[in-house]
Amino acid sequence: MGQIKLEKVTKSFGDVEVIPPLDLTIGEGEFTVFVGPSGCGKSTLLRLIAGLEDISSGQITIDGQDATNVPPAKRRLAMVFQSYALYPHMSVRKNIAFPLRMAKLDQAEQDKRVEQAASVLNLTDYLDRRPGQLSGGQRQRVAIGRAIVREPAAFLFDEPLSNLDAALRVGMRLEISELHKRLATTMIYVTHDQVEAMTMADKIVVLRAGHIEQVGSPLELYRTPRNLFVAGFIGSPK
Ligand code: ADP
Ligand code: MG
Repeated sequence: MGQIKLEKVTKSFGDVEVIPPLDLTIGEGEFTVFVGPSGCGKSTLLRLIAGLEDISSGQITIDGQDATNVPPAKRRLAMVFQSYALYPHMSVRKNIAFPLRMAKLDQAEQDKRVEQAASVLNLTDYLDRRPGQLSGGQRQRVAIGRAIVREPAAFLFDEPLSNLDAALRVGMRLEISELHKRLATTMIYVTHDQVEAMTMADKIVVLRAGHIEQVGSPLELYRTPRNLFVAGFIGSPK
């Protein structure tokens, strides 16, 4: 579960093609990081995979099935946003259960999944608080909890740590890596932070102006960057 394949995928906004034809396969259980400068199309690519934007041409398949006409809620992919995407007026419990309420899951099943996610994320004691009563790291965990309860085939993270301070970022980075080990679920993680990319990724996809400059493991990219752009992004001495 969780193989994602993009074949000749393009995306244009009006006349502007922000993603030229792009091919990419993300393996089951892999932790893939998209890196690249601001505006290179990282978020757009993630939103295309999630189904939050329609592709202009090409094909996306998820576990071998064409995703073209599959709406976001049916793709079994969970997008994790920055922690400020929480509902401030709802308790942690309600925030985490939100996607399950939308899907009209029965209450017992909702409660069970929320308890499990809270336990995995060390949030059990905080379920009745509101987001405003939590630390930044706890809020980020709630955002992740909301993804976990959907039991997705893959998690999609769009710069989830970018509004946390540096110390907290290090801790959350480790937590997300731990979560990946524990769940063994496919994760795609977008960042413009090379340290995050190098420490978290099984595979790094370096993007520039909507196309892929290079794909490889952190070590491969460090040792044999294809060009100066990749070297500059990865921090290797080429
Ligand atoms: P990144 O996440 O790497 O910073 P984005 O995917 O947000 O980059 O943006 C890639 C390009 O697509 C940018 O030039 C951006 O201005 C453009 N873009 C993104 N979303 C839209 C949109 N809804 N309408 C028009 N242009 C967009
Ligand atoms: Mg972005």
